[in-house]
Amino acid sequence: MSQNMDWFRKAKEGLTRQERKEIPDGLWSKCSACGEIIYTKQLESNFWVCTSCRYHFRISSGKYIKIILDNGELEEYDANLQSADPIKFRDSKKYSDRLKAAQVKSGLNEAVIAGIGKIDSLEISFAIMDFKFIGGSMGSVVGEKIARAIERAIDRNIPLVIVSCSGGARMQEGILSLMQMAKTAALLAVLAEKKIPYISVLTNPTTAGVMASYASLGDVVIAEPKALLGFAGPRVIQQTIGQDLPPGFQSSEFFLDKGFLDKIVERSQLKETLTLLLRYFQR
Ligand SMILES: [Zn+2]
Repeated sequence: MSQNMDWFRKAKEGLTRQERKEIPDGLWSKCSACGEIIYTKQLESNFWVCTSCRYHFRISSGKYIKIILDNGELEEYDANLQSADPIKFRDSKKYSDRLKAAQVKSGLNEAVIAGIGKIDSLEISFAIMDFKFIGGSMGSVVGEKIARAIERAIDRNIPLVIVSCSGGARMQEGILSLMQMAKTAALLAVLAEKKIPYISVLTNPTTAGVMASYASLGDVVIAEPKALLGFAGPRVIQQTIGQDLPPGFQSSEFFLDKGFLDKIVERSQLKETLTLLLRYFQR
């Protein structure tokens, strides 16, 4: 939850950090890791990965759909599901206003898009989160759309692929957002009983309530390089366990080293890797 709190503090500062991290539409883009100035068209053809230092730019759900799914096509489901404001939450602004602003800014109705698509002609149930929408936070609608994506995989007996990008549970919905963890995890247990494969893809960042539920429950869990992964923020952990934390902890590389991850995959290899895994499970 504390990652979410970190996000909350940033949100109070007016979302500027989040906005700065997004890719500008200009002719040239600057790598936020090494400072390299890259021709945007070149960056695009390089899967939005820095040509100099391999830094993976944060990209929208729409770009991932183009990269991962055949012909960049997703038959979207539940597109019109929208969050209510169940506990009439208010911080610096009303949650209902925050939702409206997020919809305008992102062009999305919620922080996840789900539907049916194909990878190498194999039909899959697919869901992709988008950080642009309130930090990819998981409220009731995100949980419900993920739950329905799992159910579609069960009903059609097709594999499930979820690409996560999230600051965690959406505190503006209180306990209802935390309940999504149990709901999605319970359905994934049914999916596992049916022996239907689930591949979880973690992108930068995948943290807190999402990491602690469906994102970490894949039969295979893969991540992009140097993604921030974890549950609570470093300071909370440090205070709780009273110990200094090792360098590089909460990165994909650290998670791989400790056995929490199966593989780190460069974005340019993402579709190929998913294809190999899905074909393997098909046998
Ligand atoms: Zn770079």
